[in-house]
Amino acid sequence: MSHLPPSAEDLPRWRAAARIASEARDLGIRLVVPGARRRDVAEAIEGFIRSKGAAPAFPANLSRNDEAAHFTPGPDDAVEFEAGDLVKVDVGAHLEGAIADTADTVEVGGSRRYENLIRAAREGLRAGIAEVRPGGAVDAIGQSVAAAIRARGFKPIVDLTGHSIEAYLLHAGKSIPNVPGHSSATLVEGEVIAIEPFATNGVGAIENGPFGNILRFRSDPGPADPVLAGLYARFRTLPFATRWASRPEEAAALRRARRTLQAYPVFVERGRGRVAQAEHTVLVGPSGAEVLSAPLDG
Ligand code: MN
Ligand code: MN
Repeated sequence: MSHLPPSAEDLPRWRAAARIASEARDLGIRLVVPGARRRDVAEAIEGFIRSKGAAPAFPANLSRNDEAAHFTPGPDDAVEFEAGDLVKVDVGAHLEGAIADTADTVEVGGSRRYENLIRAAREGLRAGIAEVRPGGAVDAIGQSVAAAIRARGFKPIVDLTGHSIEAYLLHAGKSIPNVPGHSSATLVEGEVIAIEPFATNGVGAIENGPFGNILRFRSDPGPADPVLAGLYARFRTLPFATRWASRPEEAAALRRARRTLQAYPVFVERGRGRVAQAEHTVLVGPSGAEVLSAPLDG
């Protein structure tokens, strides 16, 4: 398994993965309506990705309100979306390791109270993408993202960043901050990056909340425990949902393996502000960004 930016002949696969992820994202946005169950929406998104011959690169994230990221419904979740909820639909798909990661935000029920917050995140994304070029400073992206969000009167979340993506590796070595002064890296032609501004009316930082029902193997647990070995064969070191391993013997194996597993907490806005997110997966092309994931509405 090589952790490298895509080669020219791999690019069609990266574009195809991004198309599937984008369709899954837009499906999720449409399904998040008052009375819809969170678990049903997550399963519909993931089922759609599988129906296209891809696999989820991570569980469908449906973080709400002051939750910025890393929530997916658990196996027994029965919570329904309510009018006024601000929901981040953050979706990943991969085709043989070619990964796309894309997100948008929807206000449930169309009350449009947080329309400007959603706009701030999308404008931040657009401004960041405009800075992408080979040799360009990553810092220029953060600068433009932050300026666009502040121009709407909101704050960028400083401790959540975009990231480079490599084959089978969702978070490769490079962070793409949403504020200036946090990166001295430059962009390389052929690199794939996710740009993902988070805008908030809170303080602009996150803290760890409760467990978000997402786990990841830090390493191969070995063959000693066959149930665990089977789970590792399925998920490798990509994030997975407890929903995907909810048979009693699987749940028990995961409890036994606690130390081998990374358990993701929900990232909650520290001032309990509302949070909007917008994200695209972008190829650093010869003359600028090629946005691989399809446009966000509006
Ligand atoms: Mn994402
Ligand atoms: Mn991302």
